[in-house]
Amino acid sequence: QSYLDAIAKQDGTINSYITVTAEQALAQARAADELRAKGDAPALCGLPIAHKDIFCTDGIRTSCASKMLDNFIAPYNATVVEKLAAAGVVTLGKTNLDEFAMGSSNETSFYGPVRNPWDINCVPGGSSGGSAAAVAAGLAPIATGTDTGGSIRQPAALCGLTGLKPSYGRVSRYGMIAFASSLDQGGPIARTAEDAAIMMQAMAGFDLRDSTSMDVPVPDYRAALNNDIKGKKIGVPKEYFSAGLHPDIAAAVQTALAEYQKLGAELVEISLPHTELAVPCYYVIAPAEASTNLSRYDGVRYGYRCEDPQDLDDLYTRTREEGFGEEVKRRIMVGTYALSAGFYDAYYRKAQQIRRLIRNDFVEAFKQVDFIAGPTAPNPAFALGEKANDPVTMYLEDIYTISVNLAGLPAISLPAGFSNGKPVSLQLIGRDFDEAGLLAAAHQYQ
Ligand code: GLN
Repeated sequence: QSYLDAIAKQDGTINSYITVTAEQALAQARAADELRAKGDAPALCGLPIAHKDIFCTDGIRTSCASKMLDNFIAPYNATVVEKLAAAGVVTLGKTNLDEFAMGSSNETSFYGPVRNPWDINCVPGGSSGGSAAAVAAGLAPIATGTDTGGSIRQPAALCGLTGLKPSYGRVSRYGMIAFASSLDQGGPIARTAEDAAIMMQAMAGFDLRDSTSMDVPVPDYRAALNNDIKGKKIGVPKEYFSAGLHPDIAAAVQTALAEYQKLGAELVEISLPHTELAVPCYYVIAPAEASTNLSRYDGVRYGYRCEDPQDLDDLYTRTREEGFGEEVKRRIMVGTYALSAGFYDAYYRKAQQIRRLIRNDFVEAFKQVDFIAGPTAPNPAFALGEKANDPVTMYLEDIYTISVNLAGLPAISLPAGFSNGKPVSLQLIGRDFDEAGLLAAAHQYQ
């Protein structure tokens, strides 16, 4: 009830929720009270949570912040939603995001932009901006997010939170509306690494319903939080401190690294030579996959349908013209172009080859070091509207996050200080499936 009260009071300004499931939440909370009284409570019994509105929730609207799905009531739960429910959480509602998770500022939502609780004239980051803003404003203690190119880590960074992007295949994508399937991963957004570890325990694991889910054992994340950081090697890529990085963030990252040295870690200068190709590579691959994934929104099966279609062609064309926002259309056009017969080799195939080179940079680096450290985002939260009309400037906000998705690796963003009253963050990247190592490293710093 206290979270619902806080939402009623503050979310008119923040706009972090698209749907609040108040009645259902109170019913779940009462059931949780009964289980607790019986001494029969599962691990997260009664813990409130908010789900990014990209996870399907049975009987509850799942909009992906698009007019296209404004009327879509999911007929089933995403695996992540189901697993958290089995652990006992109480769902407060569904959080705002960039339309179909395409963006870095949460300004492309059909339901309006989200405001950053630290400065309401600034963006919360994106695309999981609603989840991050909700947790930062105290409108939920924890929230789910998804990260295709930084959408958990960057909003966590801009809102002063801890966000974990798990290894590709660690968390099931079943029931998570697809943006770019080879990059998408769900993960936790929380105040601390300990909270994120508790969430991850419930979210991670093999799922037969996701063909890219990996059958690797899930460790006890909370138990691993105190594993020694002493003697671990942290690689510091020289390419991550180039022009374009805000000086306050560079300084905060250096201070955090000095702290790690005090904790007994060793810093090693490394190189990730293909870093500068990550943005162009991602902005071919992600739109290409998006253009095929979004072909299902045709006005026939579910979602928005235009009024009075004259024929099938008119139905498809007007449904998509009216149902999708500008950024989504831009991605569909870029992706369709990159996949077209005449340009496939020049763009899509080339991007796939570069993706391998980026992955190889990390494989080489992890022969020498246990973690890689750098900034999460090049800038603190920026003003609403500041970059909204300049897609390339917006895409450059993802410079430190997207190579991790291209390589399939896990990474965590954790608060590392402030710039002019706004939070700034450190990012740690780990070896394949070493979420436990990242959570421990973040926990000991915190
Ligand atoms: N900002 C990136 C994009 O717009 C990443 C978004 C995401 O991770 N979902 O594609």
